[in-house]
Amino acid sequence: MTDDCCQTRPSKMQKVNGDAPEEVKESHVAVDTSSAVSTQPSHGDNPALGGTQPFAASRYSDFLSNVSNFKIIESTLREGEQFANAFFDTETKIKIAKALDDFGVDCIELTSPAASEQSRKDCEAICKLGLKTKVITHIRCHMDDARIAVETGVDGVDVVMGTSKFLREYSHGKDMTYITKSAVEVIEFVKSKGIEIRFSTEDSFRSDLVDLLSIYQVVDKVGVNRVGIADTVGVANPRQVYDLVRTLRSVVGCDIECHFHNDTGCAIANAYTALEAGATHVDTSVLGIGERNGIPSLGGFIARMYAADREYVMNKYNLKALREVENLVADAVQVQIPFNNPVTGYCAFTHKAGIHAKAILANPSTYEILKPEDFGMSRYVSIGHRLTGWNAVKSRAQQLGLELTDDQIKAATNRIKVMADIKDQTMEDVDAVLHVFYRAIKNGQDISHDKVFDRLLEHYNATPDVPAIEAEPTA
Ligand SMILES: [Zn+2]
Repeated sequence: MTDDCCQTRPSKMQKVNGDAPEEVKESHVAVDTSSAVSTQPSHGDNPALGGTQPFAASRYSDFLSNVSNFKIIESTLREGEQFANAFFDTETKIKIAKALDDFGVDCIELTSPAASEQSRKDCEAICKLGLKTKVITHIRCHMDDARIAVETGVDGVDVVMGTSKFLREYSHGKDMTYITKSAVEVIEFVKSKGIEIRFSTEDSFRSDLVDLLSIYQVVDKVGVNRVGIADTVGVANPRQVYDLVRTLRSVVGCDIECHFHNDTGCAIANAYTALEAGATHVDTSVLGIGERNGIPSLGGFIARMYAADREYVMNKYNLKALREVENLVADAVQVQIPFNNPVTGYCAFTHKAGIHAKAILANPSTYEILKPEDFGMSRYVSIGHRLTGWNAVKSRAQQLGLELTDDQIKAATNRIKVMADIKDQTMEDVDAVLHVFYRAIKNGQDISHDKVFDRLLEHYNATPDVPAIEAEPTA
């Protein structure tokens, strides 16, 4: 690995996945608000978590929608292998397959066994693991590939064929009649072996709609299990996705799988919209790795679906296993978890603004659509900065067992803000201010004078275990 490949690893981002890094822990309070919310209706005011808000997901009103009934085809071991940094040896592939199985994805998709001799051996090895998840492989729409695939022990085969004019002209050079004939031949062969089969077009959104619908109808009639739409180039937007999937839903009876690339940042939104329009299966990869900048990340997609139907997602998937599978894949392809990654990014559950902190301490749903504890994560409230608020500081004083009145807390908060105007304060700095306030008030010292406060703070920082009990001048 050269340094060029590691530009996504700034030094401050070490060990950011799963829990806050050390520098965050130093300046942020981990907040357990379970007691604070116990008196509240459980997320009753949170539309995404089953509340009564008018903009809640319309899962009961839309008969097409599969937002509450979808399957994940996890393609880290196929699409993910096309990521620039990816090289998975057999051992790593097995670890990833087991971690995805533990998370509970419905299918894992493997690189074509026709790609190389090692790919074929790895495919067989994963089929022998006895995973709960279905193991499928992804091949070209070609009898040679199909013959190799069905011998590996896979539960299913995903075939793909380019139908856009670009692919027909510059890639395989075949016309629609030839494509349709090959598809039917491969489908009938794979089905004759008792193995599940999907037929997908490639670059579907730049293919002719009549061509697309015609071939999907043909393969549906010969008994394909799923048809697939692939936004291979990442050109589609949610509205186009809705229109195409909905149209397709009206012409085929089989399942519909969707595969979206993230070139313009729409991959997760497109996947969600596809489900709303009647798609049944969505392709993901861990951290979204894949060709170019990849496809919907498993974690991001899960966060989206959790916000739509928490119960379905919680019952079906082992959300606490997400962090581990992300760490595993991040290590394998030598990238860091992005700071803003849904769920596991180091600031995903860190609250900073004073007004947010106050509400979070009272009821986290006020500013959280995802409950960190459902994912085995912690929430943090950042307090050592100029935007801090006295409610967050009060919460910290209570954690330290320091009894201070609200006015005293407000005075301490002002001190923290003055200091934070110069530089952000660590948790130790904040604690020192609170200890100084507590001791001074106990000893009857007037710390409204800067000099007195500064001297006491200096004394505390030098010898925190020695209480400053001597009378201090007040001017
Ligand atoms: Zn792809």
